[in-house]
Amino acid sequence: MNWIFSFLAAALICSSAAGRQLSIYSTGFGDNAEQIIEQARFYADELNIASGQPLIVMVMLSHNLPDNISGMMVHGENEVLEMRNVMIKLNAALPTDDLNRALAHEMVHVVQYARGDLMRINNTMFRWQGQLIFDSASIPYRQRKWEKEAFSKEEELKKGYKKLISH
Ligand SMILES: [Zn+2]
Repeated sequence: MNWIFSFLAAALICSSAAGRQLSIYSTGFGDNAEQIIEQARFYADELNIASGQPLIVMVMLSHNLPDNISGMMVHGENEVLEMRNVMIKLNAALPTDDLNRALAHEMVHVVQYARGDLMRINNTMFRWQGQLIFDSASIPYRQRKWEKEAFSKEEELKKGYKKLISH
């Protein structure tokens, strides 16, 4: 896994919580760089993220995602460094409210990954709570268990953040 190092070099701001070994970076958000990190941290706190190994989260604003993709998450592991890393891409075409919801959604996947429930093996194969799902494409998108959880929590998370910043 080399991408994380090149992205780290381009990272704007880092937010680190002592004890939890969770570092969040953002890139591509301009003046909102810090706000995106605070928001991701809020979701991580709300979802009670637990990570045995250091976990690095990079949130990136992408101009290359297809219109129908709000966001995506990819993960990688470095066994030598005993480190895990995650990259979230959010679609730059989204209005703010949808972008915030997409970040909340992807952070649910980050938490699923951090707690060991979700792992993407390849394009179609996933592991969910110890079970291999060989052909995830055969399951309708919103019926996949990890998506059900993400969709069920995204709105409340986003509202929680909105409430926090309105005070
Ligand atoms: Zn999802």
